[in-house]
Amino acid sequence: MTDTNDNQKLTIIEDVACTLCGCVCDDLRIGVRDNNIQSLENTCQLAEDWLWKQNERLASVCKVGSDDSTLEDAVAKSFELIQQSKNPLIYGLSSSSTPGQRAACHLADRIGAVIDTSASTCHAPSIMAVQRLGESTSSLGEIKNRSDLVIFWGSNPVQSHPRHLERYSNDPNGEFLDAQDRDRYLIVVDTVRTETAELADLFIQIEPDSDFEVLWALRSLVQGKQPVGEIIGGVPNDVLTDLAGRMINCQHGAIFFGLGLASGTLPHLNVEALLSLATDLHQHTRFVVRRMRRYGDVAGADSVLCWQTGYPFSVNLNRDYPRYNPGEYSAGDMLARHEPDLAILIGSDGLQKLPAAAINWLANIPTIALLHEDSELPFEPTVKIPVATYGVNLPGTAYRMDETPIPLRAYLETDLPSDEEVLKQLIELVMTK
Ligand code: SF4
Repeated sequence: MTDTNDNQKLTIIEDVACTLCGCVCDDLRIGVRDNNIQSLENTCQLAEDWLWKQNERLASVCKVGSDDSTLEDAVAKSFELIQQSKNPLIYGLSSSSTPGQRAACHLADRIGAVIDTSASTCHAPSIMAVQRLGESTSSLGEIKNRSDLVIFWGSNPVQSHPRHLERYSNDPNGEFLDAQDRDRYLIVVDTVRTETAELADLFIQIEPDSDFEVLWALRSLVQGKQPVGEIIGGVPNDVLTDLAGRMINCQHGAIFFGLGLASGTLPHLNVEALLSLATDLHQHTRFVVRRMRRYGDVAGADSVLCWQTGYPFSVNLNRDYPRYNPGEYSAGDMLARHEPDLAILIGSDGLQKLPAAAINWLANIPTIALLHEDSELPFEPTVKIPVATYGVNLPGTAYRMDETPIPLRAYLETDLPSDEEVLKQLIELVMTK
């Protein structure tokens, strides 16, 4: 709904979705006057810092090397680099949207590139665990309305997803919760006492790298067996017994896990242990497991790559069929091994998580960067094309961390092209020349 106050010429845009983190909160109210944001409501500090920056028009000029360029020349130079490349890599996509992600897959197919998303630097082990075992899943709305027990495992949403507790997991009165359960029970399991742990009803501190042992002990307890040892992963047996009892006896439980679980020595085994625990719990009650996705549309990038190639990330399209092999075709590993001779970066999310050797190689090879105005790179790309931002300058779709598609609204005008438009121009050149 749009509401205009004629005296002040301030337009209030309702139900705007924020794409900064995987919560994709879609209840923001943004006041816009003269193509500038004037007021913000229903935001968190992360969103405010990012949204106020949208008023600054920072780098709307294309660059080829250090020289300013027209869009036409920048696209022509990009095409020249693609023609010279034998092993191109397309990487990023989590701050794009469905149209840009689809165009990136199309270009990768046409030029025989490896295409990878920033999932490969964060929840890749979780995706692989889900592919092996399946997952017990639900929307955030279902958790909001049904879960009387919520557990955050290796995740600190107060810092990383500031409105998660308010919108989905703690504060709302669940529609299907008994009146006395409206104040749901919140547990945090982590290696350190985080800000979220301060808000929890129960905080269980485990030793670093002991998630697997603790989860396996909980599986034993849920199955009615006693785990061996008085203390497991730094947690006394009676605390784990109490936790298992709470899990078994809840009406609807939800575990959200973050990179605290899905990282370390064998992260996919940690996630598999958690998914198996949820399966065990289904002997007693309903339990779901959800990933805390960091970037705004990283779940959308998984989805679009799956529709287009059959696989969610790390896909090689240089034969006539897609090949999927995390590690072999993950951007960070490929770059560290000096395999790509051209990188097309769409958005810069996830770059900071690439290993130093990968960043060094990016600084050595030709790079084409389709970036939002406020994005920064740790090196100077060969071609830099600023693109409009979905959900600010362009409509589109972003997938929330629970894979629910959320429509995006445009409320600031820009002359910048979308990444989809730039990629389509490149596809046209590739197909016609
Ligand atoms: S929690 Fe995430 S999606 Fe919601 S307003 Fe804050 S940054 Fe945006």
